Amino acid sequence: MPRLFVLGSSGWIPTLARQTVAHMIETRRGLIFLDCGSGIARLHDPLFQEMLKRHQRALVLLSHWHHDHIEGLAALPFFLGHMEVTLAGPGPEISGEKAADILARFGGAPLLPKPLPDWSELFSGGFNIVDLRPGKQNIGGEKVEVIVQPHTHPSVGLRVRDVAYITDTAERSESAAFAKGAALLLHDAWLDNEGAAEDGPNALVHASGSGAARVARAAEAKHLVLTHLNPAYDVARLERMFLAAAAIHPATQLASDMATFSFTGGDEAPTPTAAEPTESDAG
Ligand SMILES: [Zn+2]
Ligand SMILES: [Zn+2]
Repeated sequence: MPRLFVLGSSGWIPTLARQTVAHMIETRRGLIFLDCGSGIARLHDPLFQEMLKRHQRALVLLSHWHHDHIEGLAALPFFLGHMEVTLAGPGPEISGEKAADILARFGGAPLLPKPLPDWSELFSGGFNIVDLRPGKQNIGGEKVEVIVQPHTHPSVGLRVRDVAYITDTAERSESAAFAKGAALLLHDAWLDNEGAAEDGPNALVHASGSGAARVARAAEAKHLVLTHLNPAYDVARLERMFLAAAAIHPATQLASDMATFSFTGGDEAPTPTAAEPTESDAG
């Protein structure tokens, strides 16, 4: 039964309780990462150290190129160096450039010893960079579906293993169609209702918790996890946002770093095993 781990649930910048967005699905075939923010640092946890030893393959899927979604890339050789790693991000049809060309700007001396496209010898099983394009594709042996989304620069929604991941875009009916019947929908919840009403520019490129819940309800998603949370919101404000969302789609949870969800294809609701958020930050 696949399991999804929230490694990081913050947007933009980390807080004491939340690293920036990274989520990991463990399957029998290997590990699938949904974004690669600073949450990758959670792989230091002993639970994940054992898990990393069990796997030889990793697929890293990037929703877009903003720093909070890629800043964990520098640590990939440290955690995944024994694996075959495929890294896929929005390619020419979406970003106007090949993923490898964009990543060539990530690193190289003096930022990192080598630019990221030259990292093949850092992974003993090999290293590939793949361009995501709109629609269905097979990447590293996984069926992945991609939808292009409006954002400050385009982002993509991702669907893999019956998980739909929609971040860094507003509430959209296209997202509901894309996530139809998903066992697990991870959705951007950057704003609460007050924030969405006040913050015009951000409301055009990010969703609210309630907006995410309306998408989940329209998609008939078995379970909704609110992620890419606003680091400026304190615990009480996040809790109010969560309650407003849960009133719309009851099978909703606020992501917390290290929360785990088990799910079986689309047939069965995932079982949250770390249900309560435990953050203690005050934003
Ligand atoms: Zn972001
Ligand atoms: Zn973004």
